[in-house]
Formats: sequence, structure tokens, C-alpha cells
Amino acid sequence: MPDEAALEHKILNECPRMSRNDSFTFRCAPDLDCFTQCCRDVTIILTPYDVIRLKHALRVDSSELLERYTLAPRAEGQKFPVVILKMEGEKQSCPFLTEKGCSVYNDRPWACRMYPLGVAEPKNPTPNDSSFHFVMREDVCHGHGEGKEISVRDWLANQGIEEYEAMGVAFRDLTLHDFWEGDKELSPAQWDMFYMACYDLDRFRRFVFETKFLEKFEVDEARVEAIRTDDEDLLEFAMQWLRFSIFQERSMRIRRNAA
Ligand code: SF4
Ligand code: SF4
Repeated sequence: MPDEAALEHKILNECPRMSRNDSFTFRCAPDLDCFTQCCRDVTIILTPYDVIRLKHALRVDSSELLERYTLAPRAEGQKFPVVILKMEGEKQSCPFLTEKGCSVYNDRPWACRMYPLGVAEPKNPTPNDSSFHFVMREDVCHGHGEGKEISVRDWLANQGIEEYEAMGVAFRDLTLHDFWEGDKELSPAQWDMFYMACYDLDRFRRFVFETKFLEKFEVDEARVEAIRTDDEDLLEFAMQWLRFSIFQERSMRIRRNAA
């Protein structure tokens, strides 16, 4: 069984399912002998909102951030582009790891905030099959059973997950879309479009403002001003555009003269 399928099987069949009211006992602090071990040789998948937070924290544009700190591996059968942090050096450390810990702590990615919690979300939840949280137990992490009991709800609140969840809704809907069912594949141009719109937002902004894009699509003036300067608005717009251009939904209006 491939690793991914084995992990999914383990989560669905062996991990206790936790609601937001359930608790676990965990502590993460510099005095633990495992401090920062979880930031080495690990696959951290970045969400589009993670990229926004990191590029603001590092004061670089999205293209530079992606080029310097990430990889976009492509496995056989993969449906859409995924971006991961590029581990570095002999110890395969996260590029943001320092001796004192995480150098981008206030803007660390969703996956780093969640750990050791995971979340499983069925595509079409039912009362008998709804989303749940679970605790990941890995040998490298010695924080389990240490410190105080904390509810899932409080953990998520303390880690600032709410904002990430709110900003992740449109991307989640995109990745769970029916379009991906079956054996449809993105063309190379669509693959790049998806990558640009989800992760390389500054390039997407140039695409909107430095081509005939706004001559083709009707976008009201307030929205144009918002996406010119605000990355979160631009990301929402990018998701809308992907639904139009890849899923062929009527999520954008074409100008009459352009049509
Ligand atoms: S971003 Fe920070 S918390 Fe996440 S793996 Fe890197 S150093 Fe660790
Ligand atoms: S391995 Fe676990 S306890 Fe240790 S620093 Fe990482 S998350 Fe915290």
C-alpha cells in the first residue's frame, strides 16, 4: 500500500476521533530534548494563505519566496500543484529554523500550527461521517503526556487557526471540487495557471494588471482597487478565476465587446 494510502488507513481506522471538546495532554517548549526536531526532514505543505503570510513576514514577493524556500514536486497521478518547504543541509532542516527555534513563528504555516493535531475532512460530510481531529504520535516528538490537558478547541484558538481556516475555505472547495473525480488531467498551461493563482500571487497580479485581462472580464472598480493592493482579496479573486478558467463555471463575467 503506498505511504499516503497507509497513512489514510491508519488515521481512519486507528486514531481516536476527537471533537473540538475533546482534550489531549501536550507541551511544546525549548526545554524539551526534542526541541526543533519536528522542523527537520519533514514535509510541510503550504496553503495559499501560508504563502501570503510568509512573503509578508520575509518582505519578499511570492516568486522569490517560492524560488528560494519551496519545492513543487509532482507525483504520478497528482491532480494539481502542491508546494512544500525546501528542507536544507545535512540535517534537512526547515529554511526558517534557527538555534532559537522558528524564525517566522508569528507567520508559521498552518501545518506547523496544527501539529500534533491533524484533521480529517470527508468531501461530503454526513452525520455518520463528518470531519474530526486526531492526535499524531511520532517517536521524534516527546511532548505527549507532558504539561496540561488542553481541548482541541483551545489548541486551535491558541495557535490562531481560525484565521487560516477562514482564508482556506475557497482553496479547500477548489481542491475538493467534483472536477478532480475520474481521470481528468490539467494541461501544462492549466497546471501553471493553478500554480500561479494559488501560490505565485504577485505574478497573478501582474497577469491581471499588465495584460488585457481587465478588458476581457467585467470587474467592478472597487474590486479592482482591492485586488491591486490586498493579497487576501486577490487570492479570493484568483480562486474565482480558476473556477471559471478550469472548471468552466460562470464565476466571472466576460465583457460583451470582448466576447
Ligand atoms: S516554519 Fe517554523 S515551525 Fe514550521 S517547520 Fe519551519 S521552523 Fe519549524
Ligand atoms: S518535537 Fe514535539 S514537543 Fe518537540 S518541539 Fe516539536 S512539536 Fe514540540
